[in-house]
Amino acid sequence: MTDDPRVRDTHAKAAVLAEALPYIKEFSGKTVVIKYGGHAMEDPSLAELFAQDVVLMRLVGMNPVVVHGGGPQISDLMRRLGKEPEFVDGLRVTDAETVDIVRMALLGKVNPEIVTSVNRHGSYAVGLSGEDAGLITVDRRDERLGFVGDVRRIDPAILERVLREELIPVIATVGVDDDGQAHNVNADTVAGAIASALAAEKLVYLTDVAGIYEDFGDDGSLIAQTDVAGLEHLLVSGKVDEGMVPKVRSCIDALRGGVHRAHVLDGRIPHALLLEFFTREGIGTMVSP
Ligand code: ADP
Ligand code: MG
Repeated sequence: MTDDPRVRDTHAKAAVLAEALPYIKEFSGKTVVIKYGGHAMEDPSLAELFAQDVVLMRLVGMNPVVVHGGGPQISDLMRRLGKEPEFVDGLRVTDAETVDIVRMALLGKVNPEIVTSVNRHGSYAVGLSGEDAGLITVDRRDERLGFVGDVRRIDPAILERVLREELIPVIATVGVDDDGQAHNVNADTVAGAIASALAAEKLVYLTDVAGIYEDFGDDGSLIAQTDVAGLEHLLVSGKVDEGMVPKVRSCIDALRGGVHRAHVLDGRIPHALLLEFFTREGIGTMVSP
């Protein structure tokens, strides 16, 4: 080896690329569903790195599928239009006016922003919502909540067509019921259901915490690795609440539904996706069936 720091730096870079090789081989041709969190996507510089990562995944032969939320952006638009957001058990009360605002925020702003930031690196991303080609069909959850849907069925045909063209679907989570009425649907739940419907290799949640904590508030309790039984145990412990509950639930469903691995990663870490996929370092929480 050499003492020249520039040469050492070059060697280190080559080592990182070489380390990626087995992972590139392993994941080539595999479908990966990425839930891009409402909080994780608020920082523009991180959003740019996210776009780069997703394009790189595509270019090495993976099939990334992006599912996004937008809770903070919906609340922001509601306030700007003079409406105060209201929640029951963590779920947004969604009257007819609110469902229009949900559509405006997700389809008019959040979705095209993600699509455009990916497409600055080439023409890859295609924006879709659950209203397109029967992608997401829902049932009304509870009259008190208004137009909030539970996923009844995912029709992955449109996604399979888009993936065959080597494009990157970016999905806003608005679903429709049998009467054609639009509903707001939890993005975590949709991500899990789409991962099952596509028989995805991996389901990844990019969020705003380091991973799943055994006891949220105790920094030492971050779970590096667990399985479906571990997650079920965690749900009954009561130490998982609001935003993490739908992630844990849909991880369980997706892994039962044939998805091979699920990960909860810290979207605040630059290039979290590259670190998880192409290096030996596992970050966040990994869940196996
Ligand atoms: P996202 O936009 O990624 O869906 P959410 O706020 O909906 O983000 O969900 C993530 C949040 O879940 C964390 O910021 C944290 O406050 C909360 N949470 C509750 N219980 C846990 C837990 N056991 N481990 C990690 N996060 C938890
Ligand atoms: Mg959430």
